[in-house]
Amino acid sequence: MRITFLGTGTSQGIPVIACECAVCRSDDPRDKRLRTSVWIETKGKSFVIDTGPDFRQQMLRANVKDLDAAIFTHQHKDHTAGLDDIRAFNHRQQRDIPLYGRKSVLDQIQNEFAYAFSENRYPGVPHFELHNIENKPFDVRGVQFMPIEVMHHKLAVYGYRVGDFSYITDANYISEKEQQKISGSKVLVLDTLQKEPHLSHFTLAQALELIAKLAVPQAYLVHMSHKLGKHADIEKELPPNVHLAYDGLVLEI
Ligand SMILES: [Zn+2]
Ligand SMILES: [Zn+2]
Repeated sequence: MRITFLGTGTSQGIPVIACECAVCRSDDPRDKRLRTSVWIETKGKSFVIDTGPDFRQQMLRANVKDLDAAIFTHQHKDHTAGLDDIRAFNHRQQRDIPLYGRKSVLDQIQNEFAYAFSENRYPGVPHFELHNIENKPFDVRGVQFMPIEVMHHKLAVYGYRVGDFSYITDANYISEKEQQKISGSKVLVLDTLQKEPHLSHFTLAQALELIAKLAVPQAYLVHMSHKLGKHADIEKELPPNVHLAYDGLVLEI
């Protein structure tokens, strides 16, 4: 299985005008973060988890040629806003693109992209096939995805385990029961927004504590705000089995 980090950043506190902080002024490409998303290639299939506002740029940058499905963690805009551009894959592959998410996510997608679901669709709009998932394993073209239900403040969000890879983007709490689904993973991806406490995301200290508790051999942090600090500086503070992910990082698991 090949994992490509398409984006490792967040909309939280994202500078919409030129920010003068050390991270935003950094020359280190690892400090330039698009919104969090990952591309999974396994068993000859190609999946993206979430289609945030940077989706098009991420597909071009990673040279993604085919998509078997898009799987969603939750309905926040930093994870869904780029979905319209999936039309390019409709055109290329000449078929509808399956979308997998819980009912609340699919409902919101149908509201926000209503033109793609109307009776008289304008030519060229994206074509989707909706798959309503629950908190139990599901199969997408021969690949099993196991949802891991985590809490993002009061919103229940899905992380996913695929083989030995567990991926959690937006959480500040994971129940003991759901934590058990992660155990045995070779690689865990977990969100960490910043060092200061936050309503809906793990802080760096909270993420490190959970990673240590779960005893995963390797962990990568994502969904980082520019407030966290520069990649090179934060890396020095991490235990040897934990790293900040960065855009373009590729893992073979
Ligand atoms: Zn969110
Ligand atoms: Zn998010």
